[in-house]
Amino acid sequence: MLSQGRAEDLTGVSILVAGAGLAGLAAARDLARAGATVIVVEARPRVGGRVWTVREGFADNQYAEAGGEMIDEAHEAVKSLAEAYRLPLVRVLKSGFAFARPDSQGRVNIVKPAANRGWARMSRELQELIRLYRLAERRWDSPISAAIGRRSVAEWLNERGADDELRETAAGLRGFFLADPEELSLLALVDQYSSDSATGANRMYRIKGGNDRLPEAMAAELGDRVQLGTELMAISQRGRRVRVALRNKRLPSQIDVDYVVSALPAPLLRRVPITPALPTRQHEAIEQLEYGKGTKTLLQFPKRFWVSRLQPRAFGSAQPHGAVWDANEEQRGPSGILSLLAGGSASDQTAHIMAKQGIVGLARTLDWLGYRGEPITASTQVRWESDIWSRGGYAVFDASFDPALRPWLAQPNGRIFFAGEHTSLTWQGYMNGAVESGQRAAAELAATHRLSKE
Ligand SMILES: Cc1cc2nc3c(=O)[nH]c(=O)nc-3n(C[C@H](O)[C@H](O)[C@H](O)COP(=O)(O)OP(=O)(O)OC[C@H]3O[C@@H](n4cnc5c(N)ncnc54)[C@H](O)[C@@H]3O)c2cc1C
Repeated sequence: MLSQGRAEDLTGVSILVAGAGLAGLAAARDLARAGATVIVVEARPRVGGRVWTVREGFADNQYAEAGGEMIDEAHEAVKSLAEAYRLPLVRVLKSGFAFARPDSQGRVNIVKPAANRGWARMSRELQELIRLYRLAERRWDSPISAAIGRRSVAEWLNERGADDELRETAAGLRGFFLADPEELSLLALVDQYSSDSATGANRMYRIKGGNDRLPEAMAAELGDRVQLGTELMAISQRGRRVRVALRNKRLPSQIDVDYVVSALPAPLLRRVPITPALPTRQHEAIEQLEYGKGTKTLLQFPKRFWVSRLQPRAFGSAQPHGAVWDANEEQRGPSGILSLLAGGSASDQTAHIMAKQGIVGLARTLDWLGYRGEPITASTQVRWESDIWSRGGYAVFDASFDPALRPWLAQPNGRIFFAGEHTSLTWQGYMNGAVESGQRAAAELAATHRLSKE
């Protein structure tokens, strides 16, 4: 029995949740627990969406994350869900991130974090903008935010006459934002640095046994309410009902429900016709939101050649291979897996290296980490911009996106509610944002239902 007698009783209410990523599953879990009759439709043959643990092919029963990976100390929603399903977290990458950066001869060296360099320096350079943004109470519909957000990070660097070091730091952040400084809105950078969780400075965790254990546990609780291989095709609101068109293995069907929760990424949501049409501003918000390019490469080697007592195991970088870290230090066996996350144009650069020199050529770019031609036991590469069910890594606010549109991404419309990482204000781009957004959409739906009865 799922129903636990929560304050809001949704018994007899039918709800379709589209998307079985963390956002959709979190919404469905709360709604089913409140007694609603829930159907979750998921286009892929698996749940989890952008949380995807890869196990196939790796020696020593090892595995690594092709999508969402690090759970930060402050990610309370994910942490408490994991606890609810008794999934232990393992602390990883305890020394945090260092930086791999070329010297004046172009030789890449490992540079440890320091107050006068890297992310700490970026934070200081942004202080005046952060002060203004905090005066706006971090609201994106303030003229303060509009003025900051009209510029790209690259334009801001040019205006300041930034030196190479600051530019290199900004370029390295493409492994975090999945966007180059030329594309990324300055507001997105200011927003990140104005939060309490400064880049690379947190305690980080992964779920023991793989992050996919969380969406799988949630789906197991939902049982046959989850329909895999089923695509949401259209939504139409008619009076007090919502008609949804679905497709399963080319077979079309229609069902009528009381409410719909969309937990689809914006590039997929904009392909779903909604009638009557959403308000113009909401339509624009969904239409104009960009998703970042990101290629994650998982490389397994017979030994962890990168481990030494002195150096950290995680590195930001503006190199074509992107950010690099130890993907499975907590797992047994002599082998080890490195994770390479190439964001923004680094994703194209990685693809270029792969096309010309293959996976060994990509591994060779890690000579600064001590790579000397060790054999590659196994590898997997996921190019998220080519993934047909997400069409990018995660949402990117670029300089052409009107910041005032952002609240519209989460705005309910009649009997339709919106969730997904991209709708989260505090944790956009994170698993925590996905979970919180699903829980928020479920609570909004319950509140709307209560109001409709008064
Ligand atoms: C490379 C990479 C690295 C990341 N690293 C981290 C990290 O270290 N830490 C962190 O916290 N987060 C990280 N993230 C982000 C995190 O993975 C996402 O924010 C989160 O998983 C998104 O969840 P979601 O439910 O919003 O979307 P999704 O997981 O994308 O779920 C949406 C679901 O909708 C389905 N769908 C799409 N269209 C339809 C349709 N028409 N009908 C039915 N179903 C449909 C999709 O198949 C998908 O399963 C990373 C992401 C990527 C790609």
